[in-house]
Amino acid sequence: MHKDHDALARLDRDHVWHPYTQMAEYNEKDPLVVVEGDGRRLKDAKGRWYYDGTSSIWLNVHGHRVPEIDAAIVEQLGKVAHSTLLGQANEPSILLAEELVKLVPEGLTRVFYSDSGSEAVEAAIKMALQYWANLEGKETKRHRILSFEDGYHGDTLGAVAAAPVETFHWPFKAMLPSALRAPFPNLYRSGKGPQGTVRASLNAVEKLFDEHPGEVAAVIVEAMMQGVAGIVVAPEGFLKGLSELCREHDVLLIADEVATGFGRTGRMFACEHEGVTPDLIAIGKGLTGGYLPLAATLTTDEVYEAFLGSHAEKKTFFHGHSYTGNQLCCAAALGNLKLMRETKLIEGLAGKERLISSRAEAMREHPYVGDVRYKGMVLGIELVADKETKATYPWEAQAGWRICNRAREKGLLVRPLGSVVICMPPLGSTLEELSEMLDILTASLWEATEEISTLSEKVLTGTYERPGSPA
Ligand SMILES: *Cc1c(COP(=O)(O)O)cnc(C)c1O
Repeated sequence: MHKDHDALARLDRDHVWHPYTQMAEYNEKDPLVVVEGDGRRLKDAKGRWYYDGTSSIWLNVHGHRVPEIDAAIVEQLGKVAHSTLLGQANEPSILLAEELVKLVPEGLTRVFYSDSGSEAVEAAIKMALQYWANLEGKETKRHRILSFEDGYHGDTLGAVAAAPVETFHWPFKAMLPSALRAPFPNLYRSGKGPQGTVRASLNAVEKLFDEHPGEVAAVIVEAMMQGVAGIVVAPEGFLKGLSELCREHDVLLIADEVATGFGRTGRMFACEHEGVTPDLIAIGKGLTGGYLPLAATLTTDEVYEAFLGSHAEKKTFFHGHSYTGNQLCCAAALGNLKLMRETKLIEGLAGKERLISSRAEAMREHPYVGDVRYKGMVLGIELVADKETKATYPWEAQAGWRICNRAREKGLLVRPLGSVVICMPPLGSTLEELSEMLDILTASLWEATEEISTLSEKVLTGTYERPGSPA
């Protein structure tokens, strides 16, 4: 089966349409074709090994080819790969639900499975809307979702309606209902200090509640940290304050923990940092240790019970997908969680967090690093054209790629979000591996200084020309 790099690259170019990828540009370059993984590293078809510095985009927990997770999948494969969850049950999805209920903030007792984070968000939004419709009937006015500016909740249309990202979702906005948006507390940009930043966000939420009395079904928020916005970490008190505000106004709170769940921010779930129990939580990504597509929406007995009644009442949650509760995925998740427990993975993160923070703080000395933000095993390095004014680069300039391309040459795979370079290694990385990844990142950053300086100069003097725009 194993073809060489050139043959695979040709077939890839001919047939595969990649997500979030401008194919015209991609097809001009020699692609990276992964053929194997081992621990925290991936091997390409040319035989080169790289650190998986993005955890394959927020997913990987322990590493690749983890014997315990491999074994859990193989064992399940020996029984049955998939049977439906529509009106019938299966063993691993039951056992996993029991585990998840124990792990999430207390009070979330009902588990609804899906296949991706977007779908988990989608289910949460639909549950929230139908919760009010079931309670108040068709006449309910509670059909608005309140979300935060620059937030990201996935690419399915419900998730996009809640939080459209202009760059990604501009073609779809016309057909979607618009959500109410409040500013997320962005400490670096607000200039108001931690408490002032939190206060401003919460005031904006309260104002929207007041302007739309009885209309908001739910607030959706990325717990503690906006990821796609560029690792924007909320100052202390925001999530707690938001949760209290929702309670006071009788609005459901949806915590999107798709990215932050399963230890990524240093706790099992980011809500734990502030002792918050949302009404609904969406989880995915790290759930299977980065092995298989599985996600879930968990909610309270109170929400769940609003869906109970006779079949004829149509209070049923008529939502699901072909592979909902897939046994292999659930077995992988059980294997992942068991290993997290046995290796005391989360308890062991403190030393790794210290290493990340000390290296990150040193990066502030770089002339174009405006801010470094980190929590748990996520690091974001924001480049700015001018530190004084915090001037940003045009999105098309792809400032962050100047560093990420260098890092790849040195054996570290990382991706930027605009001008924020992101590093989020698997939680299971050893201190030595982590240190080596941070060394590569630091070296790449400094090596790119001149190139970034030239770009910054152009941006500041207004001579930067948009690539591809007419002359
Ligand atoms: C990735 C992500 C999603 C979407 O998950 P998919 O599995 O990619 O559909 C939703 N919310 C957040 C916060 C995410 O990071």
